[in-house]
Amino acid sequence: MSNDSLKIPQATAKRLPLYYRFIQNLHSSGKQRVSSAELSEAVKVDSATIRRDFSYFGALGKKGYGYNVSYLLSFFRKTLDQDEVTNVALIGVGNLGTAFLNYNFMKNNNTKIQIAFDIDEKKIGTTIGDVPIYHLDELEQVLQEKDIAVAILTIPASVAQRITDRLASCEIKGILNFTPARLNVPSSIRVHHIDLAVELQSLVYFLKNYPGVEEAKTE
Ligand code: ATP
Repeated sequence: MSNDSLKIPQATAKRLPLYYRFIQNLHSSGKQRVSSAELSEAVKVDSATIRRDFSYFGALGKKGYGYNVSYLLSFFRKTLDQDEVTNVALIGVGNLGTAFLNYNFMKNNNTKIQIAFDIDEKKIGTTIGDVPIYHLDELEQVLQEKDIAVAILTIPASVAQRITDRLASCEIKGILNFTPARLNVPSSIRVHHIDLAVELQSLVYFLKNYPGVEEAKTE
């Protein structure tokens, strides 16, 4: 993200990609303006929050007019650095990793998995979804050569910290951690943790304990 976005609160920043995707759809369907109520319905964020978020972007909706779609689109593009591709590496080409390699992230945003790493000799030297798989021994060298900024971890939890320590010695800025391991990183690296089993369990818990409560959704 650009430096201008540093003033935006983190909770707002997290919603940016969500807004961006919807605004892109509106723009391609030829719509020129959108109200906070319409946005609220589509992205399932309450309209007061949307108005507050958008005020940080300098987008001030007018009563009875709404927001200008082109303005919002160019703002999101600039803020999310959509003109520039972020190169991503994936580590651990198991079931989950293979699914990510086959999934076309470029469709919705400018991130591209350029390379993958594994230690399984049967996988090394092959490609999945056009992504070449390298041996983990080559990690430091290839990350530097390919200018990789973000790593996705889909390895077993038992090796996650060890590999993270190696990533920390490279120029990696962000890690998307799909392993259950809690990672220690230097302050220069941002980690987002997605534990699918925990998310699923939490959803089931909410369904059981708060049936019919709309506020069960998390931000
Ligand atoms: P998933 O958890 O994605 O369903 P899986 O059950 O197929 O995967 P795991 O044992 O979780 O397999 O391993 C995921 C992948 O990580 C495998 O391809 C495995 O070869 C690889 N892997 C295991 N140890 C390492 C390591 N130290 N470095 C890189 N890759 C590794």
